[in-house]
Amino acid sequence: MTGDESDTDERASDRVASTVTADADEAEAVDRGDPDDGADRGDLPQEPADETALLLDTMLGKLATYLRMCGYDAAYAGERGIEADDDVLALAHTEGRVLVTRDRELAARAERSQLLSTREVTEQLLELRRSGFDLELADEPARCSACNGPLERVDRTEPTPDYAPETHEETVWRCHNCGQHFWKGSHWDDVAGTLDDL
Ligand SMILES: [Zn+2]
Repeated sequence: MTGDESDTDERASDRVASTVTADADEAEAVDRGDPDDGADRGDLPQEPADETALLLDTMLGKLATYLRMCGYDAAYAGERGIEADDDVLALAHTEGRVLVTRDRELAARAERSQLLSTREVTEQLLELRRSGFDLELADEPARCSACNGPLERVDRTEPTPDYAPETHEETVWRCHNCGQHFWKGSHWDDVAGTLDDL
């Protein structure tokens, strides 16, 4: 078993990640390219701006795991080792991310932000859905719920770790970043149920 985040109570053994495919994300990002962003600015984000790339403020780690399972590129400040307001804003800017926070002042200072008013993760998911976020699990997980890294399918000829099923039993994905393996176990169904019940 790999190390788990302290603020995620998910069972690491059968966590899975996400839905929206990378291809769809990229196509959307291109289609929605912002004409105002760029041209005469010298401090462009380092990565191509993805309209749905998010940075979750501290205390929102659990929400981050849900969003990753829904296919969002959801960075979490707590995992990136930053806490100070200025550092959070700088990271959101540098990586072109929408800041998701419960801090009204911080939200106002960010270039793009999504303010949340609730503490409970299911309430926060509901707030996001009402704000237009697409929150559904899809067939092909795309993001590691543990670290936000991209997932790749484990080839049927490859062995899997002891905690994961064999590839002839289940479709298994591996995080390109942290190496954690995922499959659609009971946790996948639990999350699907939570999203259905919002
Ligand atoms: Zn990972």
